[in-house]
Amino acid sequence: MSREIPAADAHQDIREALRALCAGFDSAYWQKVDSERGYPDAFVDALTKAGWMAALIPSEYGGSGLGLTEASVIMEEINFSGGNSGALHGQMYNMNTVLRHGSAAQNKQYLPEIASGRLRLQSMAVTEPTTGTDTTQLKTTAVRKGDRYVVNGQKVWISRIQHSDLMILLARTTPLAEVKAKSEGMSVFLVDLHDAIGRGMTVRPIANMVNHETNEVFFDNLEIPAENLIGEEGRGFRYILDGLNAERTLIAAECIGDAYWFVNKARAYAGERIVFNRPIGQNQGVAFPIADAYIETEAANLMRFRACALFDAHQPSGAEANMAKYLAAKASWEAANVCLQTFGGFGFAHEYDVERKFRETRLYQVAPISTNLIYSYVAEHLLGLPRSF
Ligand SMILES: Cc1cc2nc3c(=O)[nH]c(=O)nc-3n(C[C@H](O)[C@H](O)[C@H](O)COP(=O)(O)OP(=O)(O)OC[C@H]3O[C@@H](n4cnc5c(N)ncnc54)[C@H](O)[C@@H]3O)c2cc1C
Repeated sequence: MSREIPAADAHQDIREALRALCAGFDSAYWQKVDSERGYPDAFVDALTKAGWMAALIPSEYGGSGLGLTEASVIMEEINFSGGNSGALHGQMYNMNTVLRHGSAAQNKQYLPEIASGRLRLQSMAVTEPTTGTDTTQLKTTAVRKGDRYVVNGQKVWISRIQHSDLMILLARTTPLAEVKAKSEGMSVFLVDLHDAIGRGMTVRPIANMVNHETNEVFFDNLEIPAENLIGEEGRGFRYILDGLNAERTLIAAECIGDAYWFVNKARAYAGERIVFNRPIGQNQGVAFPIADAYIETEAANLMRFRACALFDAHQPSGAEANMAKYLAAKASWEAANVCLQTFGGFGFAHEYDVERKFRETRLYQVAPISTNLIYSYVAEHLLGLPRSF
């Protein structure tokens, strides 16, 4: 008898609840959202009402007080159901920046609103067009003037702004020439998008390969109240890195969900599709790549849970978060390729979802951090090799 994929684990309660919710949003739903380049409003509403979007918020603020491990299972299950967490995952990791580094007053003001679904914190603005992955060189500045900061600069690929009320912004508050280390002198702000857009902040959507709502952003003397600074001025890069570890780990879990989806889809089709009077899966040339994709996914999943456990224990998790994201994104992309190949021509038809999920999972070779930059991190920080840039 064949195995259930993914195999049952300690998070079965969450998995069952998510499967029941996701069952209401079938393949036709996600196909429609994708073909209309729309936003899965009904799905996100249902997730919010059921409390899953507030999973990481402590119970004293109205959330469920769960850890990154459980949040990762939520993300995995959404992708495993055939859906796309990319439309909403920002809320999970951005939350951590406020929760871990925000003041008691900020937590009290924002977290209950986010937990109830009255506010959404879906966006984080880090990437810039002229500096890309070289984040410490970013050009957007925030200059303190009395009780405000005045922001000027530009960001690119900033996702979910049109479906968010708040945005985390990383900007330079001390010029690069005046800091000892280039990672110093940047700060994190919570931007109220309703106040900002049209009053110094302009948003221009970017049409793209996946149905991912993402934008160019321009700041022209945008004023942010000084009380919206998160943590200490000048230490923002550290806070963002902590958030990025959560982001990488959650995205690893999404890739695991995708990879299991592709493996299941491929094995089912390989068992049913008859060519030359036998199931195509009887040919080792078809079966072995699916087996390979499954093995790679199982291995990547172990690193994903290790990264989650370290993050939840407030231990350094940068190495494991990066490696989990690398392994899971690689496994999901290989599984996607194998699944498409197994389906032959039918893999290209919208109705089987394979081509959509194939596009969606491809993103994670590049965002939120590209594969080369993970190699670079591992070579330098784990293996002690000379820095390449
Ligand atoms: C759909 C989408 C959504 C996104 N959402 C967000 C968001 O919400 N917020 C946000 O801040 N950003 C977001 N991003 C940006 C994303 O994080 C970046 O695209 C990603 O980090 C890569 O940066 P870049 O595009 O500037 O590539 P670049 O830094 O220009 O790099 C281009 C290529 O060169 C390689 N490269 C660069 N330097 C080196 C080196 N030293 N050694 C080896 N290889 C190198 C990279 O690996 C990459 O393959 C999003 C991107 C996409 C596509």
